Amino acid sequence: MQFDIRSFFKNGKTPFTAQFLADLSGEDFDGSVVSEPVRCSFEAHSTLDGVAMTLRIEAKADSECARCLAPVHESYDFSVDYLVRERELDDPDFELPLNEKGCLDIRELAYQELIFKIPRVLLCSPDCQGLCPICGKRKAAGCTCQPADQAAPADARLSILKQLLS
Ligand SMILES: [Zn+2]
Ligand SMILES: [Zn+2]
Repeated sequence: MQFDIRSFFKNGKTPFTAQFLADLSGEDFDGSVVSEPVRCSFEAHSTLDGVAMTLRIEAKADSECARCLAPVHESYDFSVDYLVRERELDDPDFELPLNEKGCLDIRELAYQELIFKIPRVLLCSPDCQGLCPICGKRKAAGCTCQPADQAAPADARLSILKQLLS
């Protein structure tokens, strides 16, 4: 989906709207996967200051808990507003994605906004206790390891370190 923003500056008398589904399943979201199509709603209209645009993004992302590796499913529904002045289009630092025809690439924009929105570190619950270092099971699932056992691997690592240092 693209938006010919240059033409819109010249001829955009009436608002432009577009709804589309973006397939971002093959994109890299730093550990999360967005397998279902992302619902995008785009609106643009002319103002005295430039072209005002709004992009609404509805997406579901699958990830795993950073501590216990349990699946984490998150839903996102958010809007981002932009105001673009015509001279910005020729600025090499213009931050919105333009394709080779100089049109705004709305799919790419949705991807950029979504990757910015999805946290790098997700937890299944705020107080997730992670995995037991002895048995590798989720602590929430209940393991029978004793606290005394849990000191053992730390000591083992420490003794290796001592060997290396000596
Ligand atoms: Zn967890
Ligand atoms: Zn355990």
